[in-house]
Amino acid sequence: MPAHPNLIAQNAQFIKRIHELSPGVFSAVGYAASNVHFLVGATGVIAIDTTETTQAAENILADFRQHSSLPITTIILTHSHRDHISGATVFAEGRDVEVIASDNFESDLVGVDQSRPAPNAALMARTKRQFGISLRPDERVSLGVGPGDRPMKGMGAGYLEPTVRIGQTTTVTREGFDLELAKAPGETPDHLIVWWSPERILFSGDNFYHAFPNLYAIRGTPYRDFDAWADTMDQLMAYAPDVLAPGHTSPIIGAAQIIESLTGYRDAIRFVVSETVKGMNAGLDPVTVAAGLKLPPHLAEKPYLQEYYGMIAYASRAYFAGTLGWFDGNPTSLGQLPAAEEAGRIIALAGGAANVLAAAQQAVADADHQWALELADRLIAAGAEVEAAKTLKVNALRVLADQTINAPTRNYYLLSARELEE
Ligand SMILES: [Zn+2]
Repeated sequence: MPAHPNLIAQNAQFIKRIHELSPGVFSAVGYAASNVHFLVGATGVIAIDTTETTQAAENILADFRQHSSLPITTIILTHSHRDHISGATVFAEGRDVEVIASDNFESDLVGVDQSRPAPNAALMARTKRQFGISLRPDERVSLGVGPGDRPMKGMGAGYLEPTVRIGQTTTVTREGFDLELAKAPGETPDHLIVWWSPERILFSGDNFYHAFPNLYAIRGTPYRDFDAWADTMDQLMAYAPDVLAPGHTSPIIGAAQIIESLTGYRDAIRFVVSETVKGMNAGLDPVTVAAGLKLPPHLAEKPYLQEYYGMIAYASRAYFAGTLGWFDGNPTSLGQLPAAEEAGRIIALAGGAANVLAAAQQAVADADHQWALELADRLIAAGAEVEAAKTLKVNALRVLADQTINAPTRNYYLLSARELEE
Protein backbone atom coordinates (compact mmCIF):
# COMPACT_ATOMS: atom_id res chain seq x y z
CA MET A 1 0.00 0.00 0.00
CA PRO A 2 1.47 3.39 -0.95
CA ALA A 3 1.64 6.13 1.66
CA HIS A 4 2.55 9.81 1.47
CA PRO A 5 6.20 9.91 0.31
CA ASN A 6 7.16 12.49 2.96
CA LEU A 7 5.75 10.25 5.69
CA ILE A 8 7.85 7.38 4.37
CA ALA A 9 10.92 9.65 4.19
CA GLN A 10 10.37 10.56 7.86
CA ASN A 11 11.53 7.01 8.66
CA ALA A 12 15.08 8.39 8.38
CA GLN A 13 14.45 9.89 11.84
CA PHE A 14 14.19 6.45 13.42
CA ILE A 15 16.61 4.18 11.68
CA LYS A 16 17.34 1.38 14.11
CA ARG A 17 20.64 2.00 15.86
CA ILE A 18 22.27 2.77 19.20
CA HIS A 19 23.71 6.30 19.11
CA GLU A 20 26.69 7.03 21.36
CA LEU A 21 26.04 10.56 22.61
CA SER A 22 29.30 10.75 24.57
CA PRO A 23 31.57 8.02 25.95
CA GLY A 24 29.30 5.69 27.95
CA VAL A 25 26.04 7.50 27.12
CA PHE A 26 23.74 5.86 24.56
CA SER A 27 20.35 6.32 22.89
CA ALA A 28 18.58 3.32 21.35
CA VAL A 29 16.45 4.69 18.49
CA GLY A 30 14.19 2.91 15.99
CA TYR A 31 13.54 -0.34 17.88
CA ALA A 32 10.01 0.67 18.86
CA ALA A 33 7.72 3.69 19.11
CA SER A 34 10.02 5.36 21.64
CA ASN A 35 13.70 5.56 22.59
CA VAL A 36 15.65 4.17 25.55
CA HIS A 37 18.77 5.93 26.86
CA PHE A 38 21.63 4.44 28.92
CA LEU A 39 24.31 6.02 31.11
CA VAL A 40 27.07 3.54 31.89
CA GLY A 41 28.94 4.04 35.18
CA ALA A 42 31.78 2.08 36.79
CA THR A 43 29.60 -0.57 38.41
CA GLY A 44 26.13 -0.17 36.94
CA VAL A 45 23.90 1.50 34.39
CA ILE A 46 21.09 4.06 34.51
CA ALA A 47 18.29 3.59 31.96
CA ILE A 48 16.03 6.47 30.96
CA ASP A 49 12.63 5.15 29.79
CA THR A 50 11.84 1.54 28.95
CA THR A 51 9.89 1.60 25.63
CA GLU A 52 6.51 0.12 24.68
CA THR A 53 6.75 -3.68 24.72
CA THR A 54 8.81 -6.30 26.50
CA GLN A 55 9.86 -7.69 23.10
CA ALA A 56 11.25 -4.30 22.01
CA ALA A 57 13.00 -3.94 25.38
CA GLU A 58 14.61 -7.39 24.93
CA ASN A 59 15.87 -6.38 21.48
CA ILE A 60 17.30 -3.12 22.81
CA LEU A 61 18.93 -4.79 25.81
CA ALA A 62 20.51 -7.46 23.59
CA ASP A 63 22.13 -4.80 21.37
CA PHE A 64 23.09 -2.61 24.33
CA ARG A 65 24.96 -5.58 25.79
CA GLN A 66 27.54 -5.09 23.02
CA HIS A 67 28.44 -1.83 24.81
CA SER A 68 28.19 -2.86 28.47
CA SER A 69 27.55 -5.99 30.52
CA LEU A 70 26.93 -4.06 33.76
CA PRO A 71 23.58 -4.39 35.54
CA ILE A 72 20.92 -1.70 35.18
CA THR A 73 20.35 -0.44 38.70
CA THR A 74 18.26 2.71 38.18
CA ILE A 75 15.41 3.45 35.77
CA ILE A 76 14.20 7.00 35.27
CA LEU A 77 10.79 7.41 33.62
CA THR A 78 10.31 10.72 31.78
CA HIS A 79 6.50 10.35 31.88
CA SER A 80 3.72 7.81 32.17
CA HIS A 81 2.79 7.18 28.55
CA ARG A 82 2.60 3.48 27.83
CA ASP A 83 5.23 3.60 25.09
CA HIS A 84 7.87 4.65 27.69
CA ILE A 85 7.08 2.44 30.66
CA SER A 86 6.35 -1.03 29.35
CA GLY A 87 9.78 -2.71 29.29
CA ALA A 88 11.05 -2.04 32.83
CA THR A 89 11.02 -5.68 33.98
CA VAL A 90 13.24 -6.62 31.03
CA PHE A 91 15.90 -4.06 31.98
CA ALA A 92 15.65 -5.03 35.67
CA GLU A 93 16.55 -8.65 34.73
CA GLY A 94 15.00 -9.92 37.96
CA ARG A 95 16.87 -7.50 40.25
CA ASP A 96 15.31 -4.90 42.56
CA VAL A 97 15.86 -1.68 40.66
CA GLU A 98 15.15 1.85 41.71
CA VAL A 99 12.47 3.49 39.51
CA ILE A 100 12.42 7.29 39.58
CA ALA A 101 9.50 9.37 38.26
CA SER A 102 7.85 12.71 38.96
CA ASP A 103 5.54 13.15 41.95
CA ASN A 104 2.51 13.50 39.64
CA PHE A 105 3.45 10.48 37.53
CA GLU A 106 0.25 8.74 36.62
CA SER A 107 0.31 5.66 34.46
CA ASP A 108 -1.99 5.86 31.49
CA LEU A 109 -1.95 2.23 30.55
CA VAL A 110 -5.11 2.35 28.51
CA GLY A 111 -7.58 -0.34 29.46
CA VAL A 112 -5.50 -1.53 32.40
CA ASP A 113 -6.37 1.18 34.88
CA GLN A 114 -9.78 0.01 36.08
CA SER A 115 -9.84 2.36 39.05
CA ARG A 116 -11.31 5.27 37.10
CA PRO A 117 -14.78 5.39 35.56
CA ALA A 118 -13.04 6.03 32.23
CA PRO A 119 -14.50 5.14 28.82
CA ASN A 120 -11.96 2.34 28.53
CA ALA A 121 -13.56 0.52 25.60
CA ALA A 122 -13.66 3.71 23.55
CA LEU A 123 -10.10 4.63 24.51
CA MET A 124 -8.83 1.18 23.62
CA ALA A 125 -10.57 1.11 20.23
CA ARG A 126 -9.32 4.60 19.35
CA THR A 127 -5.79 3.89 20.60
CA LYS A 128 -5.64 0.81 18.37
CA ARG A 129 -6.67 2.93 15.41
CA GLN A 130 -4.25 5.81 16.09
CA PHE A 131 -1.25 3.51 16.47
CA GLY A 132 -2.37 1.07 13.78
CA ILE A 133 -2.01 -1.72 16.32
CA SER A 134 -3.73 -4.49 14.36
CA LEU A 135 -2.92 -3.29 10.85
CA ARG A 136 -0.94 -5.62 8.64
CA PRO A 137 2.83 -5.06 8.91
CA ASP A 138 2.93 -3.70 5.33
CA GLU A 139 0.24 -1.13 6.22
CA ARG A 140 2.07 0.09 9.32
CA VAL A 141 4.46 2.41 7.51
CA SER A 142 4.94 4.90 10.37
CA LEU A 143 3.81 6.20 13.74
CA GLY A 144 5.01 9.67 12.73
CA VAL A 145 7.59 9.66 15.53
CA GLY A 146 8.61 6.00 15.39
CA PRO A 147 8.57 3.01 13.06
CA GLY A 148 5.11 1.65 12.26
CA ASP A 149 6.31 -1.92 11.90
CA ARG A 150 7.73 -2.92 15.28
CA PRO A 151 7.45 -5.77 17.81
CA MET A 152 4.06 -5.81 19.52
CA LYS A 153 4.59 -8.69 21.96
CA GLY A 154 4.32 -7.66 25.61
CA MET A 155 2.66 -4.29 25.02
CA GLY A 156 2.18 -2.65 28.41
CA ALA A 157 3.43 -5.82 30.10
CA GLY A 158 6.72 -4.94 31.83
CA TYR A 159 5.71 -1.98 33.95
CA LEU A 160 7.32 -1.34 37.35
CA GLU A 161 5.89 1.17 39.82
CA PRO A 162 8.09 4.16 40.67
CA THR A 163 9.95 3.77 43.97
CA VAL A 164 11.14 7.39 44.15
CA ARG A 165 9.03 10.42 43.22
CA ILE A 166 10.55 13.79 42.42
CA GLY A 167 8.75 17.05 43.18
CA GLN A 168 11.09 19.99 43.01
CA THR A 169 14.23 20.16 40.89
CA THR A 170 16.69 17.75 42.50
CA THR A 171 20.21 16.52 41.86
CA VAL A 172 20.64 12.79 42.32
CA THR A 173 23.91 10.88 42.12
CA ARG A 174 23.72 7.37 40.70
CA GLU A 175 26.51 5.23 39.22
CA GLY A 176 28.85 8.24 39.38
CA PHE A 177 26.52 10.54 37.40
CA ASP A 178 25.26 13.75 39.01
CA LEU A 179 21.92 14.20 37.27
CA GLU A 180 19.58 17.14 37.61
CA LEU A 181 15.95 16.01 37.51
CA ALA A 182 13.31 18.67 36.89
CA LYS A 183 9.58 18.73 36.29
CA ALA A 184 8.77 20.00 32.80
CA PRO A 185 5.10 19.72 31.73
CA GLY A 186 4.51 19.34 28.01
CA GLU A 187 2.91 16.46 26.16
CA THR A 188 1.90 15.28 29.65
CA PRO A 189 1.77 17.20 32.94
CA ASP A 190 3.93 14.56 34.67
CA HIS A 191 7.11 15.04 32.63
CA LEU A 192 10.51 14.71 34.28
CA ILE A 193 13.59 15.79 32.32
CA VAL A 194 17.17 14.68 32.99
CA TRP A 195 20.20 16.95 32.66
CA TRP A 196 23.78 15.74 32.73
CA SER A 197 25.96 18.84 32.83
CA PRO A 198 29.52 17.52 32.18
CA GLU A 199 28.64 16.68 28.55
CA ARG A 200 25.65 19.07 28.42
CA ILE A 201 23.20 16.31 27.49
CA LEU A 202 19.48 16.90 28.06
CA PHE A 203 17.01 14.01 28.02
CA SER A 204 13.78 15.83 27.25
CA GLY A 205 11.13 13.11 27.11
CA ASP A 206 8.27 13.89 24.73
CA ASN A 207 8.47 17.65 25.05
CA PHE A 208 10.25 17.72 21.70
CA TYR A 209 10.40 15.28 18.78
CA HIS A 210 11.00 15.69 15.09
CA ALA A 211 7.35 16.38 14.11
CA PHE A 212 4.64 18.91 14.92
CA PRO A 213 3.78 18.48 18.62
CA ASN A 214 0.82 16.24 19.38
CA LEU A 215 -1.20 18.89 21.20
CA TYR A 216 -4.21 16.65 20.77
CA ALA A 217 -4.06 12.88 20.25
CA ILE A 218 -7.02 11.48 18.31
CA ARG A 219 -6.99 8.37 20.51
CA GLY A 220 -8.84 10.67 22.93
CA THR A 221 -6.72 12.68 25.34
CA PRO A 222 -7.74 15.28 27.88
CA TYR A 223 -6.72 18.88 27.22
CA ARG A 224 -2.96 19.33 27.01
CA ASP A 225 -1.72 22.60 28.47
CA PHE A 226 -0.47 24.59 25.45
CA ASP A 227 1.02 27.43 27.49
CA ALA A 228 2.86 25.07 29.84
CA TRP A 229 4.33 23.17 26.87
CA ALA A 230 5.52 26.41 25.23
CA ASP A 231 7.01 27.61 28.54
CA THR A 232 8.84 24.31 28.89
CA MET A 233 10.71 25.04 25.64
CA ASP A 234 12.26 28.06 27.41
CA GLN A 235 13.07 25.85 30.40
CA LEU A 236 14.90 23.38 28.11
CA MET A 237 16.78 26.17 26.31
CA ALA A 238 17.98 27.62 29.63
CA TYR A 239 20.26 24.57 30.03
CA ALA A 240 21.97 25.46 26.73
CA PRO A 241 22.39 21.77 25.83
CA ASP A 242 24.96 20.52 23.33
CA VAL A 243 22.98 17.28 22.89
CA LEU A 244 19.22 16.86 23.02
CA ALA A 245 18.08 13.25 23.44
CA PRO A 246 14.31 13.13 22.90
CA GLY A 247 11.85 10.36 23.70
CA HIS A 248 11.17 9.86 19.99
CA THR A 249 13.19 10.47 16.80
CA SER A 250 16.95 10.97 16.61
CA PRO A 251 19.11 13.00 18.98
CA ILE A 252 20.05 16.54 17.98
CA ILE A 253 23.74 17.35 18.27
CA GLY A 254 24.93 20.98 18.43
CA ALA A 255 23.89 23.89 20.65
CA ALA A 256 22.79 26.20 17.83
CA GLN A 257 20.56 23.62 16.17
CA ILE A 258 18.98 22.71 19.49
CA ILE A 259 18.15 26.34 20.31
CA GLU A 260 16.77 26.85 16.81
CA SER A 261 14.57 23.75 17.07
CA LEU A 262 13.23 24.49 20.56
CA THR A 263 12.53 28.10 19.59
CA GLY A 264 10.61 26.97 16.52
CA TYR A 265 8.61 24.48 18.57
CA ARG A 266 7.73 27.12 21.17
CA ASP A 267 6.76 29.68 18.55
CA ALA A 268 4.59 27.19 16.65
CA ILE A 269 2.63 26.32 19.82
CA ARG A 270 2.22 29.99 20.68
CA PHE A 271 1.13 30.75 17.10
CA VAL A 272 -1.64 28.13 17.21
CA VAL A 273 -2.84 29.61 20.51
CA SER A 274 -2.83 33.22 19.33
CA GLU A 275 -4.50 32.49 15.98
CA THR A 276 -7.14 30.30 17.60
CA VAL A 277 -7.87 33.00 20.16
CA LYS A 278 -8.25 35.51 17.31
CA GLY A 279 -10.78 33.25 15.62
CA MET A 280 -12.68 32.70 18.87
CA ASN A 281 -12.81 36.42 19.51
CA ALA A 282 -14.09 36.99 15.96
CA GLY A 283 -16.99 34.65 16.77
CA LEU A 284 -15.90 31.88 14.42
CA ASP A 285 -16.65 28.22 15.08
CA PRO A 286 -13.78 25.81 15.86
CA VAL A 287 -13.92 23.94 12.53
CA THR A 288 -13.68 27.17 10.54
CA VAL A 289 -10.83 28.47 12.71
CA ALA A 290 -8.89 25.20 12.33
CA ALA A 291 -9.48 24.99 8.57
CA GLY A 292 -7.90 28.41 8.01
CA LEU A 293 -4.88 27.90 10.23
CA LYS A 294 -1.43 27.61 8.68
CA LEU A 295 1.95 28.28 10.26
CA PRO A 296 3.79 31.36 8.95
CA PRO A 297 6.32 30.49 6.20
CA HIS A 298 9.43 30.65 8.42
CA LEU A 299 7.91 27.96 10.70
CA ALA A 300 6.00 26.00 8.05
CA GLU A 301 9.25 25.06 6.31
CA LYS A 302 10.90 23.57 9.42
CA PRO A 303 11.38 19.82 9.06
CA TYR A 304 10.60 19.29 12.78
CA LEU A 305 7.23 21.07 12.43
CA GLN A 306 5.84 18.86 9.66
CA GLU A 307 2.56 17.22 10.65
CA TYR A 308 3.83 13.63 10.83
CA TYR A 309 2.50 13.24 14.39
CA GLY A 310 0.57 16.28 15.67
CA MET A 311 -1.78 18.23 13.38
CA ILE A 312 -2.22 22.00 13.45
CA ALA A 313 -5.99 21.73 12.86
CA TYR A 314 -6.47 19.17 15.65
CA ALA A 315 -4.40 21.35 17.97
CA SER A 316 -6.50 24.41 17.25
CA ARG A 317 -9.74 22.53 17.87
CA ALA A 318 -8.31 21.10 21.10
CA TYR A 319 -7.41 24.60 22.30
CA PHE A 320 -10.93 25.77 21.50
CA ALA A 321 -12.54 22.84 23.34
CA GLY A 322 -10.03 23.04 26.21
CA THR A 323 -10.68 26.70 26.90
CA LEU A 324 -14.27 27.42 25.79
CA GLY A 325 -15.59 23.85 25.97
CA TRP A 326 -17.62 21.97 23.35
CA PHE A 327 -20.10 24.76 22.56
CA ASP A 328 -19.15 26.66 19.40
CA GLY A 329 -21.05 29.78 20.44
CA ASN A 330 -23.80 29.46 17.82
CA PRO A 331 -27.21 29.16 19.57
CA THR A 332 -28.37 26.69 16.89
CA SER A 333 -25.83 24.22 18.24
CA LEU A 334 -27.48 24.22 21.67
CA GLY A 335 -30.39 22.24 20.25
CA GLN A 336 -28.53 20.38 17.51
CA LEU A 337 -30.47 17.54 15.88
CA PRO A 338 -29.06 14.04 16.45
CA ALA A 339 -27.20 12.66 13.43
CA ALA A 340 -29.90 10.17 12.33
CA GLU A 341 -32.65 12.79 12.40
CA GLU A 342 -30.59 15.43 10.60
CA ALA A 343 -29.52 12.90 7.99
CA GLY A 344 -33.08 11.75 7.29
CA ARG A 345 -34.26 15.32 6.74
CA ILE A 346 -31.32 16.30 4.51
CA ILE A 347 -31.72 13.15 2.40
CA ALA A 348 -35.43 13.89 1.93
CA LEU A 349 -34.55 17.47 0.96
CA ALA A 350 -32.03 16.13 -1.57
CA GLY A 351 -34.74 14.08 -3.25
CA GLY A 352 -34.03 10.74 -1.58
CA ALA A 353 -31.25 8.29 -0.83
CA ALA A 354 -30.57 7.40 -4.48
CA ASN A 355 -29.72 11.02 -5.25
CA VAL A 356 -27.43 11.29 -2.25
CA LEU A 357 -25.67 8.04 -3.17
CA ALA A 358 -25.19 9.28 -6.74
CA ALA A 359 -23.73 12.54 -5.41
CA ALA A 360 -21.38 10.58 -3.16
CA GLN A 361 -20.22 8.45 -6.12
CA GLN A 362 -19.68 11.61 -8.15
CA ALA A 363 -17.64 13.05 -5.27
CA VAL A 364 -15.38 9.97 -5.39
CA ALA A 365 -15.03 10.37 -9.16
CA ASP A 366 -14.07 14.02 -8.58
CA ALA A 367 -11.52 13.00 -5.90
CA ASP A 368 -13.61 15.01 -3.41
CA HIS A 369 -13.24 12.33 -0.78
CA GLN A 370 -14.13 14.30 2.34
CA TRP A 371 -17.47 15.23 0.78
CA ALA A 372 -17.99 11.60 -0.20
CA LEU A 373 -17.45 10.64 3.48
CA GLU A 374 -19.91 13.24 4.69
CA LEU A 375 -22.62 12.07 2.27
CA ALA A 376 -21.92 8.40 3.07
CA ASP A 377 -22.22 9.13 6.79
CA ARG A 378 -25.67 10.66 6.29
CA LEU A 379 -26.86 7.59 4.40
CA ILE A 380 -25.48 5.28 7.09
CA ALA A 381 -27.00 7.40 9.88
CA ALA A 382 -30.39 7.41 8.18
CA GLY A 383 -30.22 3.67 7.47
CA ALA A 384 -30.58 4.19 3.70
CA GLU A 385 -28.38 2.52 1.04
CA VAL A 386 -26.22 1.44 3.95
CA GLU A 387 -24.11 -1.24 2.22
CA ALA A 388 -23.31 0.95 -0.79
CA ALA A 389 -22.52 3.87 1.52
CA LYS A 390 -20.20 1.73 3.64
CA THR A 391 -18.32 0.45 0.59
CA LEU A 392 -17.93 4.01 -0.62
CA LYS A 393 -16.71 5.14 2.79
CA VAL A 394 -14.16 2.33 3.02
CA ASN A 395 -12.71 3.27 -0.37
CA ALA A 396 -12.63 7.00 0.43
CA LEU A 397 -10.89 6.35 3.76
CA ARG A 398 -8.20 4.28 2.02
CA VAL A 399 -7.54 6.99 -0.56
CA LEU A 400 -7.32 9.66 2.15
CA ALA A 401 -5.02 7.43 4.21
CA ASP A 402 -2.52 7.34 1.37
CA GLN A 403 -2.74 11.10 0.87
CA THR A 404 -2.19 12.29 4.42
CA ILE A 405 1.21 13.13 5.83
CA ASN A 406 -0.10 12.50 9.37
CA ALA A 407 0.62 8.99 10.65
CA PRO A 408 -2.10 8.83 13.36
CA THR A 409 -4.70 9.98 10.81
CA ARG A 410 -3.47 7.45 8.24
CA ASN A 411 -3.59 4.62 10.78
CA TYR A 412 -7.02 5.72 11.99
CA TYR A 413 -8.43 5.80 8.46
CA LEU A 414 -7.01 2.38 7.57
CA LEU A 415 -8.18 0.59 10.69
CA SER A 416 -11.61 2.27 10.56
CA ALA A 417 -11.95 1.11 6.94
CA ARG A 418 -11.19 -2.45 7.97
CA GLU A 419 -13.65 -2.28 10.88
CA LEU A 420 -16.36 -1.12 8.46
CA GLU A 421 -15.69 -4.10 6.22
CA GLU A 422 -15.96 -6.58 9.08
ZN1 LIG B 1 6.11 8.92 23.68
